[in-house]
Amino acid sequence: GFTRDTRTVRDYIRTIHDFPHEGIIFRDVTTLFADARGFRMAVDQLLAPYAGLAIDKVVGLEARGFILGGAIAHQLSVGFVPIRKKGKLPGAVVSQTYKLEYGEGVMEIHDDALVPGNRVLIVDDLLATGGTAAAGISLCERLGAEVIGCAFVIDLPDLGGRALLEELGQDVHVLTS
Ligand code: AMP
Repeated sequence: GFTRDTRTVRDYIRTIHDFPHEGIIFRDVTTLFADARGFRMAVDQLLAPYAGLAIDKVVGLEARGFILGGAIAHQLSVGFVPIRKKGKLPGAVVSQTYKLEYGEGVMEIHDDALVPGNRVLIVDDLLATGGTAAAGISLCERLGAEVIGCAFVIDLPDLGGRALLEELGQDVHVLTS
């Protein structure tokens, strides 16, 4: 006989305590991405709700959103657009500040990466306070695009990100908490 592999996406995620500093419980998805079965499950489950919907671009948030977003864009046969931290994109950009744990961050998108009316799916590995994703949504909308969904592998519900994005009228899809 054989034993069925019953591991879920959650089982491939590694938890590392006190990284990048004391008190943080870091959810490490490199162990998910490194496993062929785990990575495929995550990508398939992330895009499942959007099958059959019109999507023009997948937008990935730096940096782990690039890995997931690239695979999802390929599967949907659409283009991929990166949203990066300040100073990384070479062309003309639109910038958005957002709140960090200490101080503020700035995210950027190329000003010609989306055009008005584009329907986009935003992807990242983890939703915590929602500040990063909210900045991403704002950048897409400032270029005239419509965000039709925000997909994450992990949600940390105590930090309120999902509630924030839903208050912004967004459809939020997460695989595990
Ligand atoms: P936030 O803007 O607070 O929703 O934070 C989300 C961003 O920070 C994502 O790009 C995550 O990759 C990263 N992040 C925040 N908290 C964690 C955590 N506990 N483990 C891993 N990544 C995290």
